[in-house]
Amino acid sequence: MKNRKILLSENEIPEHWYNIVADMPNKPLPPLHPGTREPIGPEALAPLFPMELIKQEVSAEKYVEIPDQVRDIYKMWRSTPLFRAYNLEKALDTPAKIYYKYEGVSPSGSHKPNTAVAQAYYNKQEGVKRITTETGAGQWGSALSFACNHFDIECEVYMVKISYHHKPYRKLMMNTWGAQVYASPTDLTEAGRKVLADDPDSPGSLGIAISEAVERAATDEHTKYSLGSVLNHVLLHQTVVGQEAVKQMEMAGDMPDIVIAPFGGGSNFAGLTFPFLRLNLEEGKNIRCIASEPASCPKLTRGVFRYDFGDTVGMTPLLPMYTLGHNFVPAPIHAGGLRYHGAGVIVSQLLKDKLIEARAHDNLEVFEAGVTFAKAEGIIPAPEANHGIATAIQEALKCKEEGVSRTILFNMCGHGHFDMKAYEDYFAGKLTKHELSTADIEASLAELDTPVPE
Ligand SMILES: *Cc1c(COP(=O)(O)O)cnc(C)c1O
Repeated sequence: MKNRKILLSENEIPEHWYNIVADMPNKPLPPLHPGTREPIGPEALAPLFPMELIKQEVSAEKYVEIPDQVRDIYKMWRSTPLFRAYNLEKALDTPAKIYYKYEGVSPSGSHKPNTAVAQAYYNKQEGVKRITTETGAGQWGSALSFACNHFDIECEVYMVKISYHHKPYRKLMMNTWGAQVYASPTDLTEAGRKVLADDPDSPGSLGIAISEAVERAATDEHTKYSLGSVLNHVLLHQTVVGQEAVKQMEMAGDMPDIVIAPFGGGSNFAGLTFPFLRLNLEEGKNIRCIASEPASCPKLTRGVFRYDFGDTVGMTPLLPMYTLGHNFVPAPIHAGGLRYHGAGVIVSQLLKDKLIEARAHDNLEVFEAGVTFAKAEGIIPAPEANHGIATAIQEALKCKEEGVSRTILFNMCGHGHFDMKAYEDYFAGKLTKHELSTADIEASLAELDTPVPE
């Protein structure tokens, strides 16, 4: 048996992020102004983000150097291990070779610090004193709190009120790293006060929390805003994951036929798959890349390619993306990180051009997959990660049926230690499949009056 665990030394952490835009046959379409619906330039983003991140947002340069200070902090947990899942292969009795990249070894337990650290760094360089953000399940708020603490920047997190009460330990994690965490809606912002005036008992929503965090940044010159997924610069920062994985697969003397990752806004999917897609685009390789999404929020498999808002209120620029409509409210499945109505612009264009694939799984299937994985490999995955595992298991079983061996790699993008309530509900039989009717999706899409991209 060859090694179970393939590791790189600290010096082998990538020195650049990979920008797939440089290699895309069709470049992403420009964002549009929410009011005029005309294309907007990067300057429109200046109140919210530091200039260097805006440059990355619109860059078509193939490689962006990772600053030394960022690489130094990456070394606290990177490189992350690549595992050969021998036990899972055995449990499935499959001829497939299964590998996974494990991002749960980061301080906050997921891939999210890969971008949080980079974003905090560029904000610090430009003299920003405070960063605001929203968080639902708490993964992003934790990652940003950790990163801001390292650069001595204040961090203000608007946490959806219902999660704030359901996940006290996520909040305390953020407090430990020095962040201020508010149960949103708050009375600190116009947006929050307006919601509270209408409904003092509002449980909050990601849309409201975004409005609060954005308002704080837009109205204070020393404060900027930060997002943990969807945007091009976030996807860019995550490519450290896939670049390491390419090297590690080479060290294992293997190359994947199929690369799989769960999909919320696209950041961990992009992070793992883009460096493998580069091999397709540059060297004519034929590696299949599959995004795994919940059947209850199936923007990639059942949404439309359309200009849409990033938030619920309709304040953000219009982005060309696969979407279920910005008013779409997904069922409250536990995989909070996957309950977003749209997909990142770059990933959407790649799907439209059939350079990647997507697959949806129901809620019971994903927890069954997660428990199978935990029993075989030991690690308890985040509910989001279970979606990728479900696809990997399907592909491995297909190999068995067809009597062929393929090499499968998936992103184990986080552990589930703060999500055991989800497992409790699964074991108690409280989870349902949450299949969506076509009528539900059509009703949400019918409300869209935004432009259809050419
Ligand atoms: C946030 C999160 C996701 C979803 O976001 P992406 O940007 O699509 O990666 C998936 N898994 C985990 C563990 C997360 O924390």
